[in-house]
Amino acid sequence: MPHTTVATLEKRLAELKRVHQPLWVYDIDEACIVWANAEGLDLWQSESVQELSARDLSKDMTQVVTRRLQQYQQDFVRDESARFTEYWTVYPNGVPQSVELLFSAFELDDGRMSMFCEAQGFQKLSNDALRSSQALLHTSVMISLYSDQGEPLYRNPAARASAGSNGERLHEHMVDASAMQRILGSSEPEVDFVARVHVGEGKGKRWHDISARRCLDAVSGESAWLVSEVDVSQLKATQERANFLAEHDTLTGLPNRNHVSVVLEQRLAQMSARAQQGALIFIDLDHFKDINDSLGHEAGDKLLVEIADRLRRLVGDKDSIARLGGDEFLVLIGPLADEDVVDKRIRELKQHLAEPMTLQGRSVRVTPSIGVSLFPADGENIDELMSRADLAMYHAKDLGRNEAAYFTREMSEAVDSRINLESELMVGLNEEQFSVCFQPRIDVQSGEIRGAEALVRWQHPVRGLVNPADFIPACEDSGLIGKLGRFVLTQAVIAQRVWAERGHTLKISVNLSAVQFAENTLVEDFMRIVDDNGGDPHFLELEITESVLMGNDQATIGKLQALVDYGFHIAIDDFGTGYSNLSYLHRYPISCLKIDRSFIAQIETAQPIIELIISMARLFDLDVVAEGVETAEQLQALKAYDCQEYQGFYYAGAVAPDAFTALLDRGSDEAAA
Ligand code: C2E
Ligand code: MG
Ligand code: MG
Repeated sequence: MPHTTVATLEKRLAELKRVHQPLWVYDIDEACIVWANAEGLDLWQSESVQELSARDLSKDMTQVVTRRLQQYQQDFVRDESARFTEYWTVYPNGVPQSVELLFSAFELDDGRMSMFCEAQGFQKLSNDALRSSQALLHTSVMISLYSDQGEPLYRNPAARASAGSNGERLHEHMVDASAMQRILGSSEPEVDFVARVHVGEGKGKRWHDISARRCLDAVSGESAWLVSEVDVSQLKATQERANFLAEHDTLTGLPNRNHVSVVLEQRLAQMSARAQQGALIFIDLDHFKDINDSLGHEAGDKLLVEIADRLRRLVGDKDSIARLGGDEFLVLIGPLADEDVVDKRIRELKQHLAEPMTLQGRSVRVTPSIGVSLFPADGENIDELMSRADLAMYHAKDLGRNEAAYFTREMSEAVDSRINLESELMVGLNEEQFSVCFQPRIDVQSGEIRGAEALVRWQHPVRGLVNPADFIPACEDSGLIGKLGRFVLTQAVIAQRVWAERGHTLKISVNLSAVQFAENTLVEDFMRIVDDNGGDPHFLELEITESVLMGNDQATIGKLQALVDYGFHIAIDDFGTGYSNLSYLHRYPISCLKIDRSFIAQIETAQPIIELIISMARLFDLDVVAEGVETAEQLQALKAYDCQEYQGFYYAGAVAPDAFTALLDRGSDEAAA
């Protein structure tokens, strides 16, 4: 501290020399005492102001105290008449000395605000009282005492720091007037009023957990309010962020699936109360997966963000858009003047969402498939509307994508009957309503039975005999196909063995659906079934469709090879209707082609195709079976084309095993005769 300052202060404060209590001036910025009277020097155990002002008091000061003193400085700048009394423990030469101090403002010559300190008296408090006063001084909990009228009577330093001004009254402190009303209105003594309230208009709003209790002011004996507060702004912000994240999709910032029921349900409730109508639009982007796969997930994310932005711009009200996850979005519109509004919205959505965007330097365009359900006609709550709009969206996809469809009753009836069918299939499998029939495979030249195809039949208790075409797809969708397929194979193996035991060496073929083929345990399951039932895999053929081979991957080859290594033959069913790719025949271990019956039905026009298939089969050393032969003419033609085998109603349809045995025996008798 420069001597000049000390000297001028000496002059300014000369008359205070006669005061006989310790006084000093504390320079808050420099953390040193710049002036003291003789009693002050005594208290600080110093011989001269020069020596005392050279001491760096910041050394013994905690951060909290430093900040507190800076707070005092600001208080004095704001209000030069401010003064407060506190018990402080000071440490002259390291020895604790507790004094009651009165602090007031003191402006230094250079204009900076410092603090005038007057020691009122030395420690007269018990140790406990002393410590509790220290605790009050240092705690971050804000403690204040207000008169019944809300005038501040006392504030600890933390409370002072948060107050807008020294004279700030309780109702000025609280932004939320209703919370204030509740405090003042609570008449019960001894009961704490506890609330999380918005406070501090003056110093920027904060959230405080506040606890207020009626008490008596120890000085006046009058009724007062003891208020303690903890700042929870940070905690509240964190909680709010966590809530936001739980309810919003982090990528697009749109409400997520969790929040849909809350946000959109509220909108529906409003519309319902006013008897208004609305529409829920379900959007799914077409081929979004391809973009993810080809350009990477980062590009995919960018695309989703862009789509979300376009939806916001288009719909305006961000509270009626949500992202359900993946590439699915929801938009709720309403109240609707008429249904044309929905059509218009759909047109806009299709147009704007499909506009090209640049991703990784490439121009990319995605189209939406849109499903719509109407409120309240199609559903009165958001779950119902969502599932129906979803159904309509699938319908739009079936229409060929980039389409929109409104929900109709038929759509849900189709789903209902599918669900019914699946549960009936489950019952049917358990109650043995299924059986297997066999259709003979005949040698075209000799007319002898060479084999049989196993075809499943469902004897439904009410519907009667149900065709496989009507239930195989449902079996595939519901995952029941595995169980059904194992049942059919078991029956086929048993038949093969029984007929072999009667002297008939027949090749029995079994249909294998693509879904079933994909099952992991297929190979082991099939080998076990053949072993357990004493069959010979060399007389068993598995019919697969071209769709199985289209996967064209190593796993498919591996599986087929494992089946062939065990002894099974593989046939391609309905050949000619799929991709009929020549390379299949080369790449996969196939031994038979079954020409689809649609070619046989039009044998004259299809002649070139049939001949081509037959000569191709010969080239690759494969058997050929013509399916669906119904007439003598068709059989005659096949003879001319040199086809090996045929199946068809001309000889026999699929019959029960006993009837098939009879066919075999008839065949043997004819041969013998
Ligand atoms: P698919 O494998 O092509 O079986 C031949 C179908 O043609 C059989 O129909 C058979 O009854 C029918 N058919 C036979 N000869 C003639 C004929 O001369 N004219 C006409 N118009 N049709 C004839 P089905 O039994 O109704 O089976 C239909 C399809 O269901 C089968 O076609 C097959 O893809 C599938 N399927 C049948 N059983 C099973 C099975 O156990 N598992 C699997 N995954 N699919 C099966
Ligand atoms: Mg077949
Ligand atoms: Mg077929």
